[in-house]
Amino acid sequence: MTTSKRHPIVEARQEQFLNVLDRDAAHERFEAHIDAAPLAAEHVPLDGALERTLAEDIASAVDVPGFDRANVDGFAIRSADTEGASADAPVRLVLNDEVITPGRNPAAAVEPGTATVVATGGMLPRGADAVILVEDTDLDGDEVLIYRSLAPGRFLTFAGADIARGETVLFQGQVIGSREIGVLAAIGMDPVPVVRRPRVAILSTGDELIAPGEPYRTGHIYDSNSHILAAAVRELGGDAAFLGIWPDDEAQLQKQLCAAVRAYDMVLLSGGTSKGAGDVSHRVVNAAGAPGVLVHGVALKPGKPICLAVCDGCPVVVLPGFPTSAIFTFHEFVAPVIRRWSGRPPERRETLEARLPVRAQSEIGRTEYLLVGLVETDDGVAAYPTGKGSGAVTAFSQADGFVTIDAMTGLLEAESTVQVQCIGERRGAADLIAVGSHCVGLDLLLGRLSRDNLSVKAMHVGSTGGLVAARRGECDIAGIHLMDPDSGEYNRPLLTEGLCLVPGYRRMQGIVFRKDDPRFQGLGLDAILRLVCRDPDCMMVNRNPGSGTRILLNRLLGDNRPPGHSVQTKSHNAVAAAVASGRADWGMAIDVVAWKYDLGFVPVQEEHYDFVVPEGRLQRPGVRRLMELLQDPQTRADLAALGLRLDPQENDLEPVAPQRAGGV
Ligand code: AMP
Ligand code: MG
Repeated sequence: MTTSKRHPIVEARQEQFLNVLDRDAAHERFEAHIDAAPLAAEHVPLDGALERTLAEDIASAVDVPGFDRANVDGFAIRSADTEGASADAPVRLVLNDEVITPGRNPAAAVEPGTATVVATGGMLPRGADAVILVEDTDLDGDEVLIYRSLAPGRFLTFAGADIARGETVLFQGQVIGSREIGVLAAIGMDPVPVVRRPRVAILSTGDELIAPGEPYRTGHIYDSNSHILAAAVRELGGDAAFLGIWPDDEAQLQKQLCAAVRAYDMVLLSGGTSKGAGDVSHRVVNAAGAPGVLVHGVALKPGKPICLAVCDGCPVVVLPGFPTSAIFTFHEFVAPVIRRWSGRPPERRETLEARLPVRAQSEIGRTEYLLVGLVETDDGVAAYPTGKGSGAVTAFSQADGFVTIDAMTGLLEAESTVQVQCIGERRGAADLIAVGSHCVGLDLLLGRLSRDNLSVKAMHVGSTGGLVAARRGECDIAGIHLMDPDSGEYNRPLLTEGLCLVPGYRRMQGIVFRKDDPRFQGLGLDAILRLVCRDPDCMMVNRNPGSGTRILLNRLLGDNRPPGHSVQTKSHNAVAAAVASGRADWGMAIDVVAWKYDLGFVPVQEEHYDFVVPEGRLQRPGVRRLMELLQDPQTRADLAALGLRLDPQENDLEPVAPQRAGGV
């Protein structure tokens, strides 16, 4: 090998990029110096919470609505009183001396044969189980004529029907949009716990740069980097501060950088990272704190000259000046850190297969990202390279995605098949769709999943609705607690072909009543049953037909139908809310709900809450993770702490198949 005298610039370049790392090694070295956890939580006023990231799961402290509410203007009545009523044969009810408008608590109960005027949004008095529309009535002195018979529950919304007390309404890591603001307001939450925003300082360097808004001067360049970077930082949940355009002057830049490192969580510079005449950015970094430069030069195209550093705990990144290189390397190395710090899950890019209609050349030895625009064609998606070189500003904003050409590939032939990573957020279906009955245990499991970066969507439609959704293959899991009336066994007999059961846990069902109700003091189950079947003033609240709770209650009651038997609420919470508010005196619910409402509780029987899974969905990552969590000792302990009883740990993770085909 001959040694010849080389031009100083060539010499400098060789020296500077001697230690070029590959992409993964660069990542690893940089990340090893950076805190992985989200920043601390802070509380911000509800009206300032837009676009912030939730720092914790949000459980509602109240029922929404908070009381059984009339949905129309009319009269609160007992539905049994309207039996047989018609336009020709109206029923007469005596008007109670009270008008219930929203915000007014009823003073008197609706006794049999009476009615109370109630306005839309008004609270239902005790005894009433339906509201008749004013249009279906007439007044006659102190009586009201009812022209229609009503089913129980007509024109009213039970307390907690929208959101039940204790229900998790939003999950940690969710970004608050206007819809989430509405939910937070409805449960009365203000201030809101959010993750502190990472503060990111942005400096542009280059003698040639001028700010947008200034008149153009020949030979100059509008500073676009700082603006796209600031906007990208904000999009990711960070707080961007633009510290100005600085000339290529070592002393000035040094002073700015040292100040920024002390005041911000992260500093981004762009430009001056190469070793051309006047490139100083990378040189000032080492003087701003230890350990200083970690990586300078990564085998990437675009983006080779990026400089990754940490100065006294503050990450400092000098991005290449070329705009496409700057934003590409930002998304590669900086965006994941900002996302993590601001409490957001990592970006998930959708990958799709496409045809490359033209050939693309690449440099051997560097991982190259080929920006492409996607076009739908008759034979699938075509990916057209849009790149105009790393100096282009438009390339990134016009591209739909990019193809990664690995370091050892020099050429992609025309018509080859490529994998395109789409730019921008994936908005596909959630990783786990849960439809069925609500349970605090399910909330806990879903919270864990979303912390594991799996997106979850929960719809609480009750056990029967969940089972139907699972049969139609419209959900991944359906949490159900349904008793088979024939066998008394829970859930398993209801499985049909194509459905499996993932065992969940058991919940204690019992009779709930107000602790200060003297009639229930010291009574056991048998005595309570005698009381409620004998005392006409002891009002019950029932559950919807098809619910395991109603089946169990009917078994206990035999042929007895205590007052309130026709009042059908749809959840354990709604039963507890009705009793706690005095609308009813007793009902059946699970113990954890009884505790939440501070009610008396006499246990009756355990019910099983299990997960029905369509067979075809067993291998979905969300379902697998849920099954793992149900075996995980910490999660099991946390479920037990909620009052849920788990069967002894089974080694066998396999779900249970249906016992018989056909089912109910
Ligand atoms: P440098 O990294 O300083 O050598 O700059 C490389 C190229 O990027 C030059 O053409 C610069 O003019 C251009 N450039 C540097 N900073 C910016 C900026 N903030 N906005 C737009 N172009 C820039
Ligand atoms: Mg420059």
